[in-house]
Order: sequence, then C-alpha cells, then structure tokens
Amino acid sequence: MATATETPVPPEAGTLGDLIVPRFLRYVRIWTTSDRRVNDTPSTPGQWELAKVLVQELRDLGLSDVELSEHCYVIARIPATAGRESVPAVGFMAHLDTASDVSGKDVKPVVEKNYSGARIDLAGGLCLDPETEPDLAAHRGRDLIHSDGTTLLGADDKAGIAILMTMLEYLDRHPEIPHGPVEIIFTPDEEAGKGLAGIPLEKIRASACYTLDGGPLGELEGECFNAYKADVEFSGKAIHVGTARGILANAVAMAASYACMLPRSESPEATDGYYGYYCPMDIRGDLENARLEVFLRDFEPEGMRRRMEALEHFARAVESQFPGGTVRVNLQVQYLNMKEKIRQRPEVMELLREAFVRAGVEARLKPVRGGTDGSRLTELGIPTPNIFTGGRNYHSRLEWVSVDEMAAACRVVIELVRVWVERAWAEQT
Ligand SMILES: [Zn+2]
Repeated sequence: MATATETPVPPEAGTLGDLIVPRFLRYVRIWTTSDRRVNDTPSTPGQWELAKVLVQELRDLGLSDVELSEHCYVIARIPATAGRESVPAVGFMAHLDTASDVSGKDVKPVVEKNYSGARIDLAGGLCLDPETEPDLAAHRGRDLIHSDGTTLLGADDKAGIAILMTMLEYLDRHPEIPHGPVEIIFTPDEEAGKGLAGIPLEKIRASACYTLDGGPLGELEGECFNAYKADVEFSGKAIHVGTARGILANAVAMAASYACMLPRSESPEATDGYYGYYCPMDIRGDLENARLEVFLRDFEPEGMRRRMEALEHFARAVESQFPGGTVRVNLQVQYLNMKEKIRQRPEVMELLREAFVRAGVEARLKPVRGGTDGSRLTELGIPTPNIFTGGRNYHSRLEWVSVDEMAAACRVVIELVRVWVERAWAEQT
C-alpha cells in the first residue's frame, strides 16, 4: 500500500480541510450507534438527531428540496446550474450510523494539529503507535483527528457526511462551477447490515451514485463481497442432568461444537485481499435450544456456494455427534458483489477515475472486504462505487482520520460533479 505522503495534496485542500473539520467534530459528537438486533429502521433514536441537524444545515445552505423520510433517510436535491437541467442527476451517499462493535457514545474527538510523529497515548492503556502504523508515521507534520480511546471516533462514516456537506458548501460558494442535478442521500443503519431497508427508492433520481465510505487516500472500490448471514438453530433434548445419560442432547454443546467446525484458516483474522471467510457473530442458548449467527463472505458466487454447502455438512456432523438433536441452517442474503452491474455502466468508473486525476489523487482500485449501502443500491439498479474518506482503524477505539485526506476526497467529489456535467454536456451538444 502506498503511503499517504506519496500523493500530492490537491490544491485548495487546506481551505476545504478548514471547512470539513468543524462539521466533522459536530457530527461525531452525536451518538448514532446502530443496533443490528432491532428490526425497526432506524434502529436507534440518535440517528434521528443527526438527520435533523443535517436537514437544518442543508436548508441553511439555501437548499429548498430537502426531505427526511419516515425511516430517517435524508434526501437533498441540488438543482442544476442554469442551462444544465437536462444532465442526468448524480448521487452521493454516506451513512448516519456508527458500528456497534465499540461504544460510540460521548465521543470526544481530539485534533492533533501538526502531528509531532510521537506515540499517542489514549485512555485504557491504548495507544496509536507510528512504529506499527506506517500511515500514522507518514502523517507527521499534518493534522489528524482521533478519539480519546474510550469510544470509536465515527469517521466511518461521519467523514463521508462532512465531505459531502462541504462539497455542497463549496458549490454554493462557487456558483460559477456548472453542474447538473446533484442528489445527496444520508442513510440510517448501514452498519446494522439491513441493506437499505426502507429507502424511498421511488424518490431517488440519480442514474448513478457514489458512496463516501472508504478508507485511506486514493482508495476506490467497485467490487465487494457477496454476503450472507446464517442463523443456525440447534434443537436439543433436555432432561434433568442427574439422569441425562443416553438421553440429553445439549443444545449449548451442539452450538459450540458447530462453531468449532468453522475453519479457523477461513476466518476474518486469517484472510485478506480476495479470500472470503466464515465468522461466528453471536451465540446464545440453553440445554434445549441454541442459536448461532454466522456471517459468510466471498467475492465469487462459486465460493459462496461452497461455504453454504459446508454449513449444511457441519449441521449433519453435529447431528450425528448429538443423537436426538437437530440442526437447521437458515440463510439470508445481506448484499451481493456490485462488480458485474458496475461493469455494465463503464462511464460510472471512467468519470470517477477522471475526477481522481483532476484532483491530483492517485486512484487505487481495491475490493471492499465488506459491503456498503452502495452494494445494495447497485443491486437495485443504480451503480454505486465507493470512494475513500481518509479514515483508519474503523470500528475500533484506535480509529483516526486524516484531515488532508478528507479534503482530498472532497476535492475528488467536486471534480466528479464537474466531469459528470462536462461529459453529459458534450454528448448532448
Ligand atoms: Zn461505513
């Protein structure tokens, strides 16, 4: 991976950074941790709070076409500049919630202006160590933001929101920049993995969209995992444990036995790049009934089929270990690889690459080892690649974000709006 310093910071990045940082600091202080065990959208009330703040800020930018849907989707439409009304609308998306892996309540962001390059000690004995993080070492002399160590930071995805809000502010301050219709969509519960449940799709006008939900400078993502969730149900046979010999089928032991069959060499911690995995996410139960939740991830449909079959084989193996017990595997798709659908609309990536060039950022195409709302929106027919935001160590207390790189991402999206209108305009005239 290229270090951040190898790519020049685009022009005006300083100014953009000054606009982005106060917004970012405001947004991360709002508690928007989502909860994947809750079925309602949004899953948590804090997401409403951020959504309402954003609606007000969008209106303060002079936008009249701003709505907050019944499921907490913020949709704002920025009209085209005069004469560009017939250009197809381009959309941008970021998510309101933060991951539940680590607390996101009472986030206290710390701004390191002109970072000294020294180890940064955080609460609870944690530290950000430039010795072990080359990207951090490369930020010596630059500005970065981290949490105090008691919570995550929430750059995933409030960096994306701050970048998009700043893009709008920039366009508002520069009415001389021609653009077509632009649509901004802020979504709830991305981290809860509900795949845009409740999105008012009929209201979306964008023919293509871009999510701002990536990592380090230059990352550009047009493919992601195929993702399934398996709820594995274990039905045992309960009886007083003093007289259980030959009768008890212990559902707790069945679930544990099943979890141990998931190959450790195909776990998230043992894989990277294009390797998929199995990941047990939750286990609970008693003697009679137990339940194990397993995430399956694979870039190729063939690999996913193999994993699904393996889960059935493990089920039969556990049944034979525990006479009288039964195991049922219930599979549910979470999102699918967006690669094929994005390939069908080549201009979506071409224009993005052109925007990177103009912004002076070297693009690095990379598979997303996860999904974004973009994967789901792509499935729904709107191709939606993902762009970096400058964050690191997501979903952890060690999360930090580079101010220069947020500014670079902002520069990319401003250029993208420009190339989008230029291309469409050239085709129409
Ligand atoms: Zn995210």
